[in-house]
Amino acid sequence: MLPRFLGLFFWMAIAAIAGFWYADLIGALSGALLVTLFTNLIDLWRAQKISKWLRHNLVLEPPVLGGLWGDLIDRLRRLLSDQKKQTASHQQRLQDFLLAIQASPNGVVLLDPEGRIEWCNQTAAQHLGFDTKRDLMQHIIHLVRDPVFNKYFAQESHDNEVVIEGRSESLMKSVKLSVQLHAYAETRKLLLTRDVTALAQADAMRRDFVANVSHEIRTPLTVLSGFIETLQSLSLQPEERANYLGLMAVQAGRMQGLVSDLLILSQLEGSPLPQLTEQVELSALMTTIEIEARGLSDTHIGAFDTPQVLEFNLLPAIHLIGARNEIYSAVSNLVNNAVRYTPAGGKVTCTWSEQADNRLYFSVSDTGPGIGSEHLPRLTERFYRVDRSRSRESGGTGLGLAITKHVMQRHGGELKIESELGKGSKFTLIFPSARYLR
Ligand code: ADP
Repeated sequence: MLPRFLGLFFWMAIAAIAGFWYADLIGALSGALLVTLFTNLIDLWRAQKISKWLRHNLVLEPPVLGGLWGDLIDRLRRLLSDQKKQTASHQQRLQDFLLAIQASPNGVVLLDPEGRIEWCNQTAAQHLGFDTKRDLMQHIIHLVRDPVFNKYFAQESHDNEVVIEGRSESLMKSVKLSVQLHAYAETRKLLLTRDVTALAQADAMRRDFVANVSHEIRTPLTVLSGFIETLQSLSLQPEERANYLGLMAVQAGRMQGLVSDLLILSQLEGSPLPQLTEQVELSALMTTIEIEARGLSDTHIGAFDTPQVLEFNLLPAIHLIGARNEIYSAVSNLVNNAVRYTPAGGKVTCTWSEQADNRLYFSVSDTGPGIGSEHLPRLTERFYRVDRSRSRESGGTGLGLAITKHVMQRHGGELKIESELGKGSKFTLIFPSARYLR
């Protein structure tokens, strides 16, 4: 500043001396004034150049000026470049932040004070059926039509979350969303969405399961307590008493069967996958199962009806790799079902075979009543029965095929069901090559 002032003073003094020499006092004043005017004009021209440079958002090259103006340009340039770097870094951080929210498995919607969508991530758009660009600045209430949400949105406080119907890709599939609003920055709101379809399904399944188990246990319990009351209140003949006790034993047996199937199911769900180190000798396993099946057939058919024909075709020297008790459950469930559902004089054929695809097959075919095709996809659901009373009469729990399917999945295999109404059924267990040794 000082050199510039001294310079100006120097030139004014020179001009004043020259003016004085030329025209006395008037000349000296005019000389000094002229120098001031001239330097002002030059400053104006330089300021104009800088202003033009700034106006063009620093795209142009900065003007080359010396002295105070050059220094000013330099400082401006540094300041602006620092600011530019800062803005770029803020923008990068914002982008990273938005990318992180995009990657979130939960939906995020930012709402302005009026409830219009300012930004939403892809997950929220998918959950609620938004278009991330087209629907920006649309009011959320116009896009989410669920009455539960409308009521929730209108509430003063949003401490709880609510479950609403989400946007589903197919009409057959219902999507359940848990949504919650959070206030931020005083007037704005953040809407979080979470897909809880699987949780809701699991919850419904759990409730159904408990209701089914209670129902299954209540029926024999009611019958049992009826008999107990009769035995307590009436003086019965020894034969009548024996008859009642026999019926009570049947009901107790049903409850035992149910409890034991439930235990097997819970063990299957709670235990680690079967190891590849345990081996089951097939012929020993099948000997036990055959003896049990023949016993079951005798009690099922009775002494006065035509007996069933049971045929067992084994493969020699095969070892299954897996958990013995699980494989036993899977195989015996199929064999016992065939015996239980096939009438007197019918035939049950159990066959082990190794096929060209290098897999081991165990099929149980029967000449029983067969199953309508509409029931086939649901047969392995817990407690699903085609004919409830027939299942119960023959001591069924409704859990056998669910157990069998579960066991096969745990051994990397599958359960195949083929059946034709009136002709009979064929249930096949298929073990992958890694699950047996020859
Ligand atoms: P359950 O204990 O009732 O037999 P399962 O899970 O073993 O339960 O079988 C489910 C249903 O599938 C049975 O209730 C029965 O209606 C049907 N089912 C199973 N095996 C046969 C079969 N071999 N023939 C006809 N129906 C069968």
